[in-house]
Amino acid sequence: MKLKTGIYWGAGCGGCDVAVLDVHEKILTVAEKMELLFWPIAMDFKYEDVEAMDDNEFDIVMYNGGIRNSENEEIARLLRRKSKVMVALGACAHIGGLIAMANFHTKDSILNRVYLETESTDNHDAVIPQEKWVNGEEELTLPRFHNLVKTLDQVVDVDYYIPGCPPVPAQIVNALSQVWEGKLPPKGSVIGAGARTLCDECPRKKEEKTITGFKRPVEMIPEPEKCLLEQGLLCLGPVTREGCGARCINTNVPCRGCYGPLEGVRDQGVRMLSALASVLDPKEEKEIDELISQIADPLRTFYRFSAAASILRRKKV
Ligand code: SF4
Ligand code: SF4
Ligand code: SF4
Repeated sequence: MKLKTGIYWGAGCGGCDVAVLDVHEKILTVAEKMELLFWPIAMDFKYEDVEAMDDNEFDIVMYNGGIRNSENEEIARLLRRKSKVMVALGACAHIGGLIAMANFHTKDSILNRVYLETESTDNHDAVIPQEKWVNGEEELTLPRFHNLVKTLDQVVDVDYYIPGCPPVPAQIVNALSQVWEGKLPPKGSVIGAGARTLCDECPRKKEEKTITGFKRPVEMIPEPEKCLLEQGLLCLGPVTREGCGARCINTNVPCRGCYGPLEGVRDQGVRMLSALASVLDPKEEKEIDELISQIADPLRTFYRFSAAASILRRKKV
């Protein structure tokens, strides 16, 4: 019997949904094994259709995107109730993702920037969307915009995680085959990725890492075969889970950590800081300070994808 399946996007970009389609000819196998009952980005399903279903009627729901507003949260709770297995698909649902960089700002500063301040904004009446708008007998409502982006498991119980921004399509098939073959690991596991670090699957030549200076990718053309971190590019490979095939590294771009932290690591950014501390060349405090000051935008470098899942969760504002 086919697995009754739902796919939903919360606060995301749609890239994870596209990654599901990018499985190429494997889509035939997926179609043979899974019956799609809900996928709003692809077909015209309504929330009422899900509400009318029995609890646990879905065999599996894959939720991508973070929890940014009250609609994301409400549908996450609904789908959790209706599904036997809940999977966080992609970095946003797993660890907050790029969307969670919003946690470095307040809700008001985001709305002001978007609706009032951008260079291309033409909003003379300074209109900012409100949760409720009443005009005579007409009332319109919008979802509540939260002050904090959350990961899926900060809102509902999650059974499995498929990491990546977006997950590599082959890894999605890999993870789904574990579902239809009934070979799932213990609840709470990451599926569709390995357990080692990205450095372990990276083809670049590693020598003794000693860092004498930091550069941004736009400031240099790195040697194609040598470890990027050893060339002064801040690569999060040592603290990121393997599974993507080193896809950024293969285009000469350092890893930003979208596959998330390793098993048992609470905070990917802190782990990277700790890894760096052991390979900095200078030993004197003043020289170390000078070297560290070369890191452009440390917050968004160390927490590009994992801010919502980190110990900090947000910048103090
Ligand atoms: S994980 Fe990446 S691809 Fe997926 S929804 Fe988030 S931003 Fe988009
Ligand atoms: S630090 Fe980056 S470039 Fe160096 S081995 Fe690890 S993943 Fe590869
Ligand atoms: S190299 Fe890093 S940032 Fe790029 S896809 Fe892989 S895990 Fe994600």
